[in-house]
Amino acid sequence: MSNVLPYDLEVEKIIDEVRSRGVKSVVVQAPDGLKPYLKDLCMRISSIGITVYISTDPCYGGCDLVDEIGRKLGAEMLIHIGHKRFVKIKEDIPTLYIPAIHSADVSKLVRMSAEFLRGRGIKRVGLVASLQHVHTLGSFVEGLKSNGLEAVVDDATGGLVLGCNVEAAKRISGLVDAILHVGGGDFHALGVALAVDLPTYIADPYKEEVRDIEKLKRKILARRWWAIQKARNAKVFGVVVVAKAGQFNKEYALFIKRELETKGREAVMLVADDVSPERLSSFTFVDSFIVTGCPRISLDNQEIFGKPVLNGEDAKELLRLVAHG
Ligand code: SF4
Repeated sequence: MSNVLPYDLEVEKIIDEVRSRGVKSVVVQAPDGLKPYLKDLCMRISSIGITVYISTDPCYGGCDLVDEIGRKLGAEMLIHIGHKRFVKIKEDIPTLYIPAIHSADVSKLVRMSAEFLRGRGIKRVGLVASLQHVHTLGSFVEGLKSNGLEAVVDDATGGLVLGCNVEAAKRISGLVDAILHVGGGDFHALGVALAVDLPTYIADPYKEEVRDIEKLKRKILARRWWAIQKARNAKVFGVVVVAKAGQFNKEYALFIKRELETKGREAVMLVADDVSPERLSSFTFVDSFIVTGCPRISLDNQEIFGKPVLNGEDAKELLRLVAHG
């Protein structure tokens, strides 16, 4: 792998922080996509006499901290890479968040975006981005403007979206003809497309391409509808509490269980750290699962569970439908 990292891991900032806190050991946590870039960082921290543990577990958001493991290891600090502090989180050990900004030059992508949007008759576009790319939105605003397009970024959020929080798009949806998401993959853009009734496009800095997400949105909506309809006929529900700190919602899970029971259904409470088809497949007596943690687990993975899996919002819709027959 080349020595030039495509992400800024802010190594010297981390070194200053661990030095000033006088810690002896740290845990480093990152999403799978960033793990290949951790070697130099970890060697640098080790070089000043600090023991470094790298978490091998998957990590999908700031909602998911390995602070419990950190406590067991006696680590005094967690270095969480790739996400911002999650709003509902209370850290058990001091945590330093490093966004891991992506360093690609976006000038070509901006020009491609302008051409793509003009080709679709878009005049005013709303801009959002995932954390690694949100710093590029200024270049997009300028570049699109110089190509005759109006570009809007929400002031309050700076255009930043998470998989479960797309306020940055919702707040400007009445002002624009379409939304352009800057980031890789479909995950964040899909969250936006599902929440706003506007054409949503992706400007992908990794593939250097601009694409439409409408087909995927329709597929996901159809699967969600299928899951809710199937769940209407379920007799036994598994209501899953997710143990990850930012996803933990025991009260809501217990509420759903009680509501289902008052409507004549059976429900068992399940608890999981990671929700996966493999883990749930042993519960052969369950007809449908309701996962009260990350709302994207069911939305993005419906087809691999083999049984209807609903999120907290879907459960509200289910309870409304069951109430009305
Ligand atoms: S709850 Fe889900 S979408 Fe939200 S930050 Fe966590 S993993 Fe991402």
